[in-house]
Amino acid sequence: MPATPGGPRVLLRRLREVMAEPVSAQDRLDKIVILIAANMVAEVCSVYVMRGDGDLELFATEGLNREAVHHTRMRAGEGLVGLIATTAEPLALSDAQSHPAFSYRPETGEEIYHAFLGVPLLRAGNTLGVLVVQNRTFRTYAEEEIEALQTTAMVLAEMLASGELQTLSSTDSTSALRQPLHQRGIPLADGVGLGYVVLHEPRVVIKNLIAESVEAEVARLETAIAEVRASIDELIEHGDVAHHGEHREVLETFRMFAHDQGWLRRMREAVLSGLTAEAAVERVQSDTRARMLRQTDPYLRDRLHDLDDLANRLLHRLVGRNLVAERASLPENSILVARSMGPAALLDYDRSRLRGLVLEEGGPTSHIAIVARAIGIPAVGEVANVTALVEPGDAIIVDGSAGDVQIRPRVDVEAAYAEKARLRARRQAQYRRLRTVAPVTADGIEITLQMNAGLIVDLPHLTETGASGVGLFRTELQFMVAERMPAASEQQALYRAVMTAVGDEPVTFRTLDIGGDKILPYMRSVEEENPALGWRAIRIGLDRPGLLRAQVRALLKASDGRKLRIMFPMVATCDEFARAKALVDRESAYLQRHGYSLPADLKLGVMLEVPSLLFQIEEICATADFISIGSNDLLQFLFAADRDNRMVAERFDPLSAPALRALKTVADAANRSGCPVSVCGEIAGRPLEAMALIGLGFRALSMAPTSIGPVKAMLLELDAGAVGAFLEKELARAGGAETLRSQLISFAEQHNIPI
Ligand code: PEP
Ligand code: MG
Repeated sequence: MPATPGGPRVLLRRLREVMAEPVSAQDRLDKIVILIAANMVAEVCSVYVMRGDGDLELFATEGLNREAVHHTRMRAGEGLVGLIATTAEPLALSDAQSHPAFSYRPETGEEIYHAFLGVPLLRAGNTLGVLVVQNRTFRTYAEEEIEALQTTAMVLAEMLASGELQTLSSTDSTSALRQPLHQRGIPLADGVGLGYVVLHEPRVVIKNLIAESVEAEVARLETAIAEVRASIDELIEHGDVAHHGEHREVLETFRMFAHDQGWLRRMREAVLSGLTAEAAVERVQSDTRARMLRQTDPYLRDRLHDLDDLANRLLHRLVGRNLVAERASLPENSILVARSMGPAALLDYDRSRLRGLVLEEGGPTSHIAIVARAIGIPAVGEVANVTALVEPGDAIIVDGSAGDVQIRPRVDVEAAYAEKARLRARRQAQYRRLRTVAPVTADGIEITLQMNAGLIVDLPHLTETGASGVGLFRTELQFMVAERMPAASEQQALYRAVMTAVGDEPVTFRTLDIGGDKILPYMRSVEEENPALGWRAIRIGLDRPGLLRAQVRALLKASDGRKLRIMFPMVATCDEFARAKALVDRESAYLQRHGYSLPADLKLGVMLEVPSLLFQIEEICATADFISIGSNDLLQFLFAADRDNRMVAERFDPLSAPALRALKTVADAANRSGCPVSVCGEIAGRPLEAMALIGLGFRALSMAPTSIGPVKAMLLELDAGAVGAFLEKELARAGGAETLRSQLISFAEQHNIPI
């Protein structure tokens, strides 16, 4: 390896001096490339910056033709520079011109150079540009030289991120970092929110990149590593998650990484090259992130995420921020951006200042999505790499209904969304005015409108919406958002709070519907080929009755002289319901023997969501005190189409003749036998579908709180008799699996029914 005069330490020291000089950005960059070229004993050093349009523009050069600066541009993926930007990895070649990706640009005069070393300018895993050195000879760059150039690249990346270089571009196209961006994710919670980025895990801003004393920085790094290790040990030994499955595994993985020699060595080397301890951690973290973004294996991605988390812990130790205080002082109109977040963390924020949530992870059934919906915060999930695409304080818009995120939106885009948000607010104000209006159709049929709930934060919606009670209380949500199994006393306290909140209105508690996609983090899950068809809900309850018994007991105790309604999910046979009833009877008898007061009135119902019950419907109606149709599952099983798989979920229309006939079978049988029946799946909350359900003979619907207004507005204008006759005629006429959607829309339009 040729002598690098003074090595990276000297270079970093000189860079620090240049950074502090009161010169223009271009002068500074010109000095920097001269310094790097001299230090690396290279004839050429060039900096290419990624523009907003993705092109890489030559911003400064020592050695190439200076006329080319701000003129030469490479498209993403073009030439060696484009290749480095795309792969985000260094590239060292002894003969650049024989590389297939080499792209000759006559204006630069680079034909006389053979050896080529380029590294990406990375920040938070994003490529902001490329730094290149070139030599005339056919030489091989040593590992240490590549490392040294990467370290230098980090300093340049910080300079870019600070915005200092933006004004230098050949056109006014802003750099990639500040460009408006439209990202698509998946809708988690409805609504439109406009505001400013707040990072849930605030990025540590590193002000000092270059060490004054390498020895002191080595000591700081070692202390921070020791402290992080000790804090992980502490969590494992004494944390309240110590004995619960997954959490412990995550921490164990953390501990393993905290002792990973390769990772530690790379950080130590970065400090020895002249960076401060925090800059060294960030330097290594940036590489990890770049690898993470390209990693497709989910297991390896997770492990890289773990390393990233560890690096964050180290950074927070080294730069010492008080996150608790920062969370408490949330600015107005905040939009939280996070890789992932626990539900409890979301509840820690001041809700009155929160306008939205954007996550890199988090599917629609994730716990955080459930909580976001419950507290009415628009949320979008699965937005790849979003934490790296934003800066704190950036303007951002979350459209939780469409799954769109607009980062640094243009003025016209912002105006369009502001209008959308205003319209939504106006409509909601109209719905709020309907709160006290009785839900009676135009022809005088009373429809019971109830809400679905599952958490204590849902309960204020009762008075806000005017719902007549809770038609479906999903008890598993309490379990899903908790870090550990809720104790019997905690279950009882929640049930009692719910009963108190509803007062005289009814509340129907559904027993634990776990398994399938609803995994409890602290319970070992069994690998199943088809979890939706597997060991879940009542099946677990009957096979391992401990959990169900404890829950039933908590419900019975909580009711304490009040009315109690319990229903069982995923019942497939009459016999299962009979066994569940017997379990409740045994618990009642037990409590009575021990002097507890039992519910004044106990009703036990069946959740109808497995098609086999359609063919036992008379018997079910005769034995159940009530039935509630879980149409989300019923339709998924009826059409054998996974409700969470976007490729098939919308393939079969709930308003198609087969679906409507199945629903009608239940309505007819229940109405004939006098067994109360309701619908509590998502279709009950969509005005058009709800109109059809009323037409089929349903008189009770339970839905998300936000749907109550729109459904009530619809039914106030509806002639239930007329839609019933219309549907009967259409169903008799419809052939095959024809959908009646357009006919129902026409019906609504003709009769001025808002849908
Ligand atoms: C349903 O299946 O329709 C239902 C309401 O239950 P969940 O969505 O909780 O499965
Ligand atoms: Mg269900």
